[in-house]
Amino acid sequence: MTHETGVNPDLDQDGPGWDLHCHTVFSDGTMTPAQMVALAGKRGLAGLAITDHDTNAGWEMAAQAAEGAGMPLLLGTEITAEDRNVSVHMLAYLYDSEDKVITRLFERTRRARLTRTRTMVDRISRDYPITWTDVLDQVKEGGRTTVGRPHIADALVGAGVYRDRSEAFAGVCSSSSPYYLPTPSPTTHQVLKAVKHAGGVVVIAHPGAAKRNPVLLSDEQIGNLVREGLDGLEVRHRDNPPEERERLLALAERWDLLVTGGSDWHGDGKPNELGENRTSAPVVERIVRRAYGSRPVGYPSE
Ligand code: AMP
Ligand code: ZN
Ligand code: FE
Ligand code: FE
Repeated sequence: MTHETGVNPDLDQDGPGWDLHCHTVFSDGTMTPAQMVALAGKRGLAGLAITDHDTNAGWEMAAQAAEGAGMPLLLGTEITAEDRNVSVHMLAYLYDSEDKVITRLFERTRRARLTRTRTMVDRISRDYPITWTDVLDQVKEGGRTTVGRPHIADALVGAGVYRDRSEAFAGVCSSSSPYYLPTPSPTTHQVLKAVKHAGGVVVIAHPGAAKRNPVLLSDEQIGNLVREGLDGLEVRHRDNPPEERERLLALAERWDLLVTGGSDWHGDGKPNELGENRTSAPVVERIVRRAYGSRPVGYPSE
């Protein structure tokens, strides 16, 4: 899936496309919203979305940068959830950021992430030369940043244990390491209900990411979410292998779901290149039309 210029060669669309899955310093990305917008311009993207984990704290900065650069932007969040035994990430776009239920949901998850990450660090620090302070030093926007394993990874890199984040994720930060703890999360059903109530559009992130998840959402589980208002599936993502993409495309066809693509860009934190997977303009149009919680920034038809 990777390509020198970061352009996905199998992009099934005409235009330059949108990258609808991007992380900044407001979660575990390494770059600011302004740097993200500038890079999107360089890559020739038609537009992009900011989708930090369990927060919308970066929306304002991203909107300002996008407006200044004339780069269309969807406001979004990648929400941590679970569905029975499966860990699920849900991309929520253009919901009302003032919504009380969503605000409380994010507060809960972020608090749970902090406790969980700290407990992991307590365990790791018995065997490796890092402290909780070292981890907090990696957090770029203080209390506004959603904390997680990548910040532990960065502290381990800082201490010279690993060369980069990916190496740390193959070791101590792996979900199969003895130090791993899951993040207590809301259910997919709770997330869908909250985002729909707040006028947003919901797309399941990397639903076929077999390496990240020992168990994937079944057709039946996805079908249940469709009945509750699920809008789409992120099919074009580097972690979805070809056979999973086929399954997901068939489900999308069966239930008339939106098919999106995104890079899951984390700046220098991951090899993923901004724009390496994209979403077509007509699909973005459907997202924008469907949403009523907030408006895109600098959207062409406005
Ligand atoms: P957590 O949410 O705290 O369990 O941390 C998992 C997150 O780390 C995922 O959302 C990944 O996108 C992110 N991550 C950042 N860099 C890497 C990396 N190099 N390898 C694997 N995951 C990474
Ligand atoms: Zn991440
Ligand atoms: Fe994710
Ligand atoms: Fe992500």
